[in-house]
Amino acid sequence: MRITHWIGGKPWTGAVERAGEVHDPATGRVSARVDFASASVVDEAVAAAREAYTRWRGASLAQRANVMFAFRELLNARKGELASIVTAEHGKVLPDAMGEVQRALEAVEFACGVPHLLKGGFSENASTKVDVYSIRQPLGVVGVVSPFNFPAMVPLWFVPNAIACGNTVVLKPSEKDPSASVFIAELFAEAGLPDGVLNVVHGDKVAVDRVLEHPEVKAVSFVGSTPVARHVYETGTRHGKRVQALGGAKNHMVVLPDADLDLAADAAVSAGFGSAGERCMAISVVVAVDPVGDELVAKVADRIAALKVGDGRRAGCEMGPLITGEHRDRVAAYVDAGVAEGARLVVDGRDRPVDGDPSGFWLGSTLFDHVGVDMSVYRDEIFGPVLSVLRVPTYDEALEVVNANPYGNGTAVFTNDGGAARRFQNEVEVGMVGVNVPIPVPVSYYSFGGWKDSLFGDSHAYGPDGVHFFTRTKVVTGRWLDPSHGGVNLGFPRNT
Ligand code: NAD
Repeated sequence: MRITHWIGGKPWTGAVERAGEVHDPATGRVSARVDFASASVVDEAVAAAREAYTRWRGASLAQRANVMFAFRELLNARKGELASIVTAEHGKVLPDAMGEVQRALEAVEFACGVPHLLKGGFSENASTKVDVYSIRQPLGVVGVVSPFNFPAMVPLWFVPNAIACGNTVVLKPSEKDPSASVFIAELFAEAGLPDGVLNVVHGDKVAVDRVLEHPEVKAVSFVGSTPVARHVYETGTRHGKRVQALGGAKNHMVVLPDADLDLAADAAVSAGFGSAGERCMAISVVVAVDPVGDELVAKVADRIAALKVGDGRRAGCEMGPLITGEHRDRVAAYVDAGVAEGARLVVDGRDRPVDGDPSGFWLGSTLFDHVGVDMSVYRDEIFGPVLSVLRVPTYDEALEVVNANPYGNGTAVFTNDGGAARRFQNEVEVGMVGVNVPIPVPVSYYSFGGWKDSLFGDSHAYGPDGVHFFTRTKVVTGRWLDPSHGGVNLGFPRNT
C-alpha cells in the first residue's frame, strides 16, 4: 500500500523522490510505504492553503461551525475505524486507541463553539461618543507537526481550532503512523470543508524545516521530543512565526505516607504501562515517601505480573508493542543500563510472555526500585514500559526531586490529606497536576501544556489557549460623526 500527501482536497499525484516504511508493530511487517515530501511538495501544500485562505477567512462563523458539527458527527460514527487505524500502525491496544479518539472528539466539540469563542469585547462611549471594540482574526496558513504516539488525538488538538478560527492548515504527521491524518483529512472533506483548507504532507525533517522557513506559514504548532521542539521553536521564531512547541517529559507520581496504596499501585501501573509507556503524560517515576516504599513496590510488582502483553487487536491484551524495533532495542538498553548502574531490578520486562507474533516489537513491563537521580533510567525520557521507584524520607525531598527535574509536563500526588495536596499543587513546578489522578490531561475546555523543557513558547495546546494562539486581536476605536466633534488637536489622544 502507498500513502501519499493530501493537497488541495485530493491525493497528491506527483513523482515520489523519497519514501519511508510504515510497520505493523505487532507483527513487525511493513504494512505500507509513505511518500516523503520534498521542499517543493511542501510549497505546493502551502500554496493550496494560501489560496483557500482568501475565501475561508471570509466564511461566516455559522458556516465554519456547521463544518465542525458535521465533522464531529462523522468522526463519532466512524471512531471505531479510526481507532483500528491507530492500533494497526501505532500498536496500542484497541480500547486505548478508542480512548485516544474519544479525547480527540472532545477537542472537536470545543471547536464547534467557535462563534462564542471568537466574540470580542465592546466598550460603548469609552471616550465621549467614542466606542472601542476588539475582534479576533485568523493568522493565515498555519503548520501543525505531530508525533507518533497520538496519531489521531494530537493533530485534532490543533486542526479543529485552527480551522474554526479561519486559518488554513498544512499538517505534517509522524511518518511512523501517517494514515490517521489522511483519514481525518478525508472526513473533513466529507464534512464539507472546502478544498485546500486542510492539507497533509508526509515526511521527515526536510518537510518540517520547509514549513518552519516558508514565509507564508504564519504559525507552527509542534508536539514531539524536546530536542526537536527546541529546534522547531528556535527556527520558527527566527523566521518570524508564532510557535508553540510541546516537548518530552519525565512525569513523577509522589506517594505520601497516608495515601491509599492500592489506589496508588493501580494508578502507577495504569499510567506507567498504558500505551507501553509511550505517552508524554506517562508516569515514569514513582517517588515513594518513607515508609511506603516496600509495600508499594510489592503491590506494583503484583499488578505487573498480571498484565497481558500482546497484539492490540486480540481480546484481553492490555499492553501492545513499541513503535519500532529500533525503539524497542533502545528501551531494552535502558533496562541493561539500570542494572549496571545499581538500581534494583524488581520485574524484568525483557523476558515476559507475549500473546502475539514473535516478530512484533515486544518488550514487557520493567520495574526498578532504589533508583538514584544520577542514573540514566531516571535522567532520560525513556518513552517505554520502564517504571522507576525513587525513595525519599520526606515530602520536602519529594518536592525537591520533582522541581529539580528539567521537564515539567505532568505530575501527580497521592494522599488523603487535602492540605498536603493543596500545598503540592501550589509548590510544584509542573504544568499539569493530578491529585489522586495519575494522568491529568486537561479536558478540552482547559488547555494542555507543560513547563520548563516540556514546552517552548507561551501558549498551551487546545482550549482557550488554542483559540488565542490561532488568532490575533485587533482593537478598533471608532467615532461616528456628531455635531460635537472638536476640530484639530495635535496632542496625544486623551479619553474624555
Ligand atoms: P519526534 O520529536 O521524533 O518527532 C515529532 C515530529 O517531528 C515528527 O513529525 C517527526 O517527523 C518530526 N521530526 C523528527 N525529527 C526532526 C528533526 N530533526 N527536525 C524536524 N522535525 C523532526 O517525536 P516522536 O518520537 O514522534 O514522539 C515522541 C516524543 O513526543 C516524546 O518525547 C514525547 O514525550 C513527546 N510528546 C510530547 C507531548 C506533549 O504534549 N508534551 C505529547 C506527545 C508526545
